[in-house]
Amino acid sequence: MSTATTAPPVAVGRFPATSEAFTPWHDARHWIAGRWCDPRSRRESHEVVDPRHGRAMAQVRLGGADDVDRAVAAAAAAFPAWSEWPIRERAQVMYRLRERMIASLDELSWLVSHENGKVLAEAKAEVEKAIECVEFGCSLPNLAAGNQLEVSRGVACEVAHAPLGVVAGVTPFNFPLMVPMWMLPQALVGGNAFVLKPSERVPLSSLRLAEMLAECGLPAGVFNVVQGDRVVVEALCDHPRVPAIGFVGSTRVARQVYARAASHGKRALCFGGAKNHLIVVPDADVELTAENVVASFTGCAGQRCMAASVLVAVGEVDHILDAVARRARTIRPGVDLGPVTTAAARDRIIGYIDDAEASGVKVVVDGRGATADPGGYWVGPTILDGCRPSMKAACEEIFGPVLSVIRVPTLDEAIAIENANPYGNASSVYTSSGDVARRTMERVEAGMCGVNIGVPVPREPFGFGGWNDSAFGHGNMTGWDGYRFWTRQRKVTSKWALQRDQTWMS
Ligand code: NAD
Repeated sequence: MSTATTAPPVAVGRFPATSEAFTPWHDARHWIAGRWCDPRSRRESHEVVDPRHGRAMAQVRLGGADDVDRAVAAAAAAFPAWSEWPIRERAQVMYRLRERMIASLDELSWLVSHENGKVLAEAKAEVEKAIECVEFGCSLPNLAAGNQLEVSRGVACEVAHAPLGVVAGVTPFNFPLMVPMWMLPQALVGGNAFVLKPSERVPLSSLRLAEMLAECGLPAGVFNVVQGDRVVVEALCDHPRVPAIGFVGSTRVARQVYARAASHGKRALCFGGAKNHLIVVPDADVELTAENVVASFTGCAGQRCMAASVLVAVGEVDHILDAVARRARTIRPGVDLGPVTTAAARDRIIGYIDDAEASGVKVVVDGRGATADPGGYWVGPTILDGCRPSMKAACEEIFGPVLSVIRVPTLDEAIAIENANPYGNASSVYTSSGDVARRTMERVEAGMCGVNIGVPVPREPFGFGGWNDSAFGHGNMTGWDGYRFWTRQRKVTSKWALQRDQTWMS
């Protein structure tokens, strides 16, 4: 077994909350070369606000280009030794991390719930999904064996996966723990050293992640965190020693990051926003559809790139829409539904509802004025019936618990509406007809499609990734594609026929 650098003393430790009561915590600092440290030159901080209470639970100290330099230097120093560990030994860190995360499931879930706002059950689901990503990392040694073939007499070709070096990931606010885990297991088991830039709105999960990885035997410098905002992201895009960047966030920023990284010749995979359409036809199962549609558009307060956003109602489906509305009215803000991320997000979401109502749309279920814990940023489930495809509520990403209903007479028109929107993350159909399901799945312009499933996430070992304006770059972020993204193929062609006549062999 290779020798790991001794884990540093725990500086942050357990997140203490065991309920939703407001819980202040440590300020978020950088984790570089296995130590906590502060920004070198920038002095600004950003409040980490618990959205349920609308109060700052910590500060995050924003880094700059010099902090990126420091982190990249630490990663570059750690990379040669780490990349020489056999893949099976690198994967052992993931096995230990898996056990560590399972043992800390409650703690991590409360941390995610407090910094992001999602309710505990949703936070637990996030941590469990992050663990599933780690499990995929554990399986890589069994999957990553390269190919070998005698391509002509005495000549063999073999392909091996080599790490890229120091790579970087930039993540959004809506999944503080899971989205980093879309990248880390493949990148680390692939032999890279990593610099993570978490969202400045939810930097706290990265503190626990850094400490847990160190406790699990990851050598200092192999994983680093630089806290910050666009300044850090741009420095990572421009840094000459970072050959690859994974990004997850809004389409506007994904497009910018992709262009900037690509302009420096980097490999980049940048996931953006979404506007997911659920197509409901008259033969759909009423109760299954109602439960599933509501879970999709209200889960995580609609702040999921996979959330249902538009329901395209085909033909006479009033009986199903009534069931959806009935179900949505049972969702209790504060209990089943968490707050949205900021006051500005709440106001933006309510602006979409006001705007739709002013243009004649019926607000069948109205989440404006919802309240739970005082001070929090609440919007209740909202259903807007009678939207036109060109309306803002029907074509822009709202990122809140709002479902816009568009009515059309035929399946062809429903598919045309889905395909006219520039995003391509997810799309689902609710039907009991195999023919309708197949025809829809073959024609919708979306990377992740569902039949009677409102959040069609392709779970491990399948790769997660959208199309069109939801993804810039090639391939998927999770699963085997993730391993391919964070590694490069070394092709070795060998000819040993020279030895054929040497007598000492015979
Ligand atoms: P965001 O784009 O505002 O921020 C994402 C990351 O980019 C953060 O780390 C942030 O600090 C950084 N950033 C912000 N502005 C930047 C700039 N101008 N230049 C460089 N970096 C910048 O996104 P968000 O609000 O944190 O997350 C919500 C968005 O993420 C939604 O649009 C959602 O659909 C999307 N998302 C997509 C997926 C997916 O897989 N497609 C998954 C999760 C979230």
